[in-house]
Amino acid sequence: MTTIASNLQSVRERIARACAAAARDVNEVTLLPVSKTFGPDAVRAAYAAGETAFGENYIQEAVDKQALLADLPLQWHCIGPIQSNKTRLVAAHFDWAQSVDRLKIAQRLSEQRPEGLPPLQVCIQVNIDGGPTKAGVAPDEALALAREVARLPRLQLRGLMTIPEPSEEYAAQLAVHRRARALFDALCDTGLQLDTLSMGMTADLEAAIHAGSTMVRVGTAIFGTRAKRA
Ligand SMILES: *Cc1c(COP(=O)(O)O)cnc(C)c1O
Repeated sequence: MTTIASNLQSVRERIARACAAAARDVNEVTLLPVSKTFGPDAVRAAYAAGETAFGENYIQEAVDKQALLADLPLQWHCIGPIQSNKTRLVAAHFDWAQSVDRLKIAQRLSEQRPEGLPPLQVCIQVNIDGGPTKAGVAPDEALALAREVARLPRLQLRGLMTIPEPSEEYAAQLAVHRRARALFDALCDTGLQLDTLSMGMTADLEAAIHAGSTMVRVGTAIFGTRAKRA
């Protein structure tokens, strides 16, 4: 078994244990392996071990990698910052965009989504812990943005995505993930049809699952430590 295959098995076991501890069905939580900075061979190893969806942060890197993996039936999630000049690439090359945090970006993605493709699946990124320089819409603006995005013809709004500040403490991780879950529930209560709360990474997936995450995005625990980008 490759290292990636055995790492994946460990991550799936962590998810299963966290679900059991939270009395949740393991099928409620999707694992999204995050392959940023790793090459196509790493993706192939994860695919051979049963994974078909991958998260990428850097759009050009992802598009180049996708071209080398075109023989595999993969689904791609954009989880990194989306600037206006990158929306056309995201609209054409990804299945999901989880990091939408402005109406202008959402409008461009909808306008630029190619005719032959199904609607782009979208999450709104929320700056749940209020870091002043961080990406993400403020929690109190999430509902208004969600309503606008839900109306765009070539997008399908699926839910929210968060990237809280790292904390070593389980209780602190849990508290911030619970705020995200409460916001998600509040949006659902207004009638928005959402099924995805994307939160939890290598260091905090247990707390995220405890709080009600439906998708954990895991890089390091599957692919190893990333080299710093130049
Ligand atoms: C890199 C990244 C991840 C994965 O982080 P790990 O700590 O390596 O699991 C998840 N989500 C986003 C948005 C990321 O940029």
